[in-house]
This record gives sequence, structure tokens and C-alpha cells, in this order.
Amino acid sequence: MYQRKHPSRFLRLLEVQYKAVFRRADNIVALIVQKYGGTSVGSPERIKNVAQRVAKYKAQGHQVVVVVSAMSGETNRLIALSKEIQKNPDPRELDVVISTGEQVTIGLVAMALMEQGLKAKSYTGAQVKIHTDSAFTKARIASIDEENIRTDLANDCVVVVAGFQGMDEAGNITTLGRGGSDTTGVAIAAALRADECQIYTDVDGVYTTDPRMVPEARRLKSITFEEMLEMASLGSKVLQIRSVEFAGKYKVKLRVLSSFADEGEGTLITFEENDKMEQAIISGIAFNRDEAKITVRGVPDKPGIAYQILGPVSEANIDVDMIIQNVGVDGSTDFSFTVNRNEFTRTMDILKGQVQPHIGAREVIGDNKTAKVSVVGVGMRSHVGIASKMFRTLAEEGINIQMISTSEIKISVVIEEKYLELAVRILHKAFDLDQEAI
Ligand code: ADP
Ligand code: ASP
Ligand code: MG
Repeated sequence: MYQRKHPSRFLRLLEVQYKAVFRRADNIVALIVQKYGGTSVGSPERIKNVAQRVAKYKAQGHQVVVVVSAMSGETNRLIALSKEIQKNPDPRELDVVISTGEQVTIGLVAMALMEQGLKAKSYTGAQVKIHTDSAFTKARIASIDEENIRTDLANDCVVVVAGFQGMDEAGNITTLGRGGSDTTGVAIAAALRADECQIYTDVDGVYTTDPRMVPEARRLKSITFEEMLEMASLGSKVLQIRSVEFAGKYKVKLRVLSSFADEGEGTLITFEENDKMEQAIISGIAFNRDEAKITVRGVPDKPGIAYQILGPVSEANIDVDMIIQNVGVDGSTDFSFTVNRNEFTRTMDILKGQVQPHIGAREVIGDNKTAKVSVVGVGMRSHVGIASKMFRTLAEEGINIQMISTSEIKISVVIEEKYLELAVRILHKAFDLDQEAI
């Protein structure tokens, strides 16, 4: 008996020791990027709390890079201030102004870390050398020079990087679009090949829908990268879409967590679909209030017409979302599409001024009180009837669907904005998202 038991006990002991050694080794080499959003650095107390969490990770032997947003409300304040001076602020100068919010936070966070007895050093985007293109207010990151950060980390220093900002080839300050600090966080994690990128925010993970709108929403333990990409692009602002794109491209391990809770595993963005048996058909509901619908009526039904309508819109750098062209009757048809509500007036002006007279359309009508609701889930691939369930649920509440668009893993509808909240709630219930997945 003893003889037989002994080797297995011995092996088990070896295994335990092996794991312990590796865990310790893991700890020593783990490089973690922590991104803190506006509310998480919204006051001196919150900043001190960030420093305490970082100190805890440092005490465990990790190397930590902290990426921070401006203190909550600051970016909005700076935009409003700029608009008081110039109704349509010059984009280059607007970036000069709105990038300052993050510069304040990096200095304060570095100071708070020093107060914890840690070595810390702050960097603006330009100081790191986060290179971007020159699309002011919505720049894209082209490359990151991570040498200085690596040297500081090797010297046991916590590096604090300003989110949301970079520098173009000519040395101009650029910003990455609202919510862009998420993208800085993930891009830095990708550049450093970090072990994990932790996005700390004011909710404790990604939920089945915005928990501020639907209190019954549930936190997801994990969500596939594809689903997160759809959720973000369809309006869930918990992660900026470009940050998810970066995570996908460079396989960054990404986790969303609360900075207001000390414990909790948050939500992990995974690259593999769960076991089909466990996979919920629908993972979440996303919505976007900023949708405006435009219809060009009585358009001649002939080749090239879509281009003649949308060409001038895209030349004006306006993104078009959903597009519908009706079946033509008697040689003419109607053409509808949606744009961001901010671009509504500009798009209407282009259509009425340039397009309508040119193509001889009957009229151009617009509605900027519309919203988009989407159900998202990789489980849709293997299940039929999701669309009809969605449409039936909305019909039962008398909600009219104005436009529909689908992909393999999502169905989106445009509805009147006043029904948005109701639509999200009833769909959340109809798809049992308030229940634990079986
Ligand atoms: P931060 O300032 O930390 O970047 P944001 O306000 O940009 O935070 O993003 C967090 C917010 O995203 C939450 O407070 C929540 O209202 C909203 N949100 C929208 N959809 C979701 C969702 N599906 N899960 C979690 N939060 C969501
Ligand atoms: N401060 C910027 C914003 O409010 C970036 C961010 O918070 O991610 O959009
Ligand atoms: Mg954000």
C-alpha cells in the first residue's frame, strides 16, 4: 500500500511545489497595465485609493503601468469652455485644450504614489511618444515607443501615462476620441506585451446591458471579444471600440473591473467561445441615443444613385451607419440612412444644398429623435428565431421599427427615441438576461 501511495503523494508534492515556484515567478515578472477612468480619479480621495491599489500590486512583486483619464467632468468642462470662445472650435486647438485634463491627473497620481513610498514618474502621450495620425479629436495610434517605460519599470518605478492623447508626425498634440483612455491603456499593454490590461471603472464589469438603465442587468463573468466589439460599436461605452479592436489584434488579456470595490473578478474578454452548452444565445443589449435618420424621397431608381447621395456625405468626413434603399416603384425610390446626431444638421445641409438639386430628388426629410437598440450574442449563429422574437416583443408594446440591420451575431433596430428605455427593458426580459444562464 505504502509503496503504491508513496509515488503519487510524492508527485503531488512536486506538483504543488512546482506550481508555487511558478506562481512566484509569475508574480515577479507579471507586467500589469491598469487604466482608471474619470470617476476613478474624480477626487483626491479617489486618486489616493488608486495609489493604494497600485501599492498592493507592487507589494506582490508586479510591475505596474497606470493609464489615467481626466478627472470626471473635466473633459466636458474643457469642451464647453472652448465652445464659449469659438462656436465650432478649431480641432487642433481643441485638442491642445482638452488634452490638459489628463496631464493634471498623471501628476497627481504620481504624487499619490510617492506618498505610498513608491517610485513613480508621469508621462504625457507626447513624452512617451505615442505616435498618432493627424485626425484631431479622433486620432488613431500608429505606434508607441515603449523604451523609456521599460527602463523605468526595470528601475522599480511605477509609470503613469496620460490616456486619450498622442502626438502626430509634426509634433502636434492629438486626442483619440471620447473614451480614448481605454485605447491608450490597451495599446500600451500591447506595446509592452503586458500580462493583463485591467480597465478600472465605476461598474464592476461588463453587464448584459447598461446597469444604469436596467437595474436587473447582470454582470457577465466573461464575454467573447467579438461580442464586446459589437457591444462597444453599438453604443455600450464601457469600453471604447478602438480599445477592443487593439485587444483583438494584439491578443491583449483584457479585464473590466470596479475601482470602487477591493475584490471581484470583473469581466474577462475572452478569445474563445465558451462551450456551446453554456453559451447564452444573447449576451447583451446595446443602445445608442445618438442616431439621426435622414430620408431622401423620390430618388430616380438608377445605377450610381447611392454613390451620388452618400459620396458628398463621406467627403465631408461624416460616418454613415445604417442604410436602406426601398424597392423602386415607377422608376423612383426612397433612400434612408442614419448618422450621428451631432452631424445631423451638417448632413441635412449637404443633402438639401448639393445632392437634392443635383439628382432631382422630391424631398429630403430628417428625424433626429431616433435611437438604435441591438441584441448581441455569438449564440445567434446556431439559433434561429431571434429576430422574430425581438420584433414580436417590440410589436407587443406598440413600438414601431423604422430600420433593421443584422449581422451574424447582432440584430439592430432603429426606433423612436422616446421608446428606447422601454425597448431595452422588455428585450432584456424577453431574452431572460435577468436570469443566470443555465
Ligand atoms: P470611465 O470614466 O471609467 O471610462 P465610462 O463612463 O466611460 O467610465 O464607462 C462606464 C459606464 O459604461 C458605466 O457607468 C455604465 O453606465 C456604462 N455602460 C454602458 N453599457 C454597459 C454595459 N453593458 N456594462 C457595463 N457598463 C455599461
Ligand atoms: N477624458 C476623455 C473623455 O472624457 C478620455 C476618457 O475618459 O477616456 O472622453
Ligand atoms: Mg470610458
